[in-house]
Amino acid sequence: MTGKVYLVGAGPGDPELLTLKAVKVLKSADVVLHDDLIAAEILAFIPSSTQVHNVGKRCGRKNISQTQINELLIQNALLGLQVVRLKSGDPLIFGRAGEEMEALRRANIAFEIVPGITAALGAAANAQIPLTHRQVSSALVLVTGHHAGIDGFADWPSNIPTDSTVVVYMPGHDYRTTAQQLLRVGVAGTIPCAIVSQATSPDEQVHLTTVEELHRSPQLPAPTLLVVGEVVRLAKPASLAQRFAWHVDAASFGLINLSVDDILPPAGQERAE
Ligand code: SAH
Repeated sequence: MTGKVYLVGAGPGDPELLTLKAVKVLKSADVVLHDDLIAAEILAFIPSSTQVHNVGKRCGRKNISQTQINELLIQNALLGLQVVRLKSGDPLIFGRAGEEMEALRRANIAFEIVPGITAALGAAANAQIPLTHRQVSSALVLVTGHHAGIDGFADWPSNIPTDSTVVVYMPGHDYRTTAQQLLRVGVAGTIPCAIVSQATSPDEQVHLTTVEELHRSPQLPAPTLLVVGEVVRLAKPASLAQRFAWHVDAASFGLINLSVDDILPPAGQERAE
C-alpha cells in the first residue's frame, strides 16, 4: 500500500510553538526530511528508528534540489512509508509546499498539510507588535526579499497601501536596497521598522529603526525578518532599550515617551469598521 506524506510546519523556533498534530505525525513517521532551521528539541520528538534527512541548503547536502526533494517524498511514499516533510514556520508561506503538492498530486500520492506558526506571527508575538491595529493598520502584507535561485529582489506589489503592516521574509543584509524597495512601493521613510533575529529562540534580538535609517542597522544573526509599519511603535519597551543601546542619536527617532495616544487619530476621526 502506498504511504502518505505530511507537509508539516515546525513553527518559528520555540519547540513549545509546535502543534500537537505535528508532534503526533513526527512520532509515527518512518522518514523525516527536514530543513535547516529546525530546533534540536523538535527533532528530538522523532523516534530513533526513523530515517532522518536534513535536506536544507546550509547543512551538508548543499546540492539537493527541489526536484530531488520531490522525488524523495514520492519514492518513500511508494515504498509504503509515512513521510514527514518538516519545514520551518508554516509550510504554505514561502515554504515551497506548492511545488511539493503539485509533484505529489501528479504522482497520485496522498498528502496532508499540518500548519505551523509562521515566523511573522512568532516574531510579532515576542516583540509585542500587533500586526493589525484598528486605527493604523488594516492590512498585513507578507513579502519576500529574495526568491531562491532568482538574483536580486523579488517582485512586490507596485503600491502598498499606507495603512498596512509589511513583513519582509528573507530580507538579507542589504538594508539599503530593502529600504529603497520599500520607498518605491509607497512606504514613507519615517515609518518605523523592526528587524527581528532568531525570533522565539533564546537568542532572539530586536532592532528598531525607521525605513530611512534602516541601512545603519547592525547585521543580526540569521534568520531575520523585517516588520514595517506604524504598529512597530507599540513594540515592547525592552526592544526599545535594545535599540537605544545601538544608536547614539536615538533621541531624534522620537520613540521615547510614545504611547498609544500618539498614534491614534484625534477624537471623532476614528475609522468606521
Ligand atoms: N515557512 C517559513 C518561512 C520560510 S522562508 C515560515 O512560515 O516562517 C525563511 C525565512 O523565514 C527566513 O529567511 C526569515 O526571514 C524567516 N524566518 C524563519 N524563522 C525565523 C525566525 N525564527 N526568526 C526570524 N525570521 C525567521
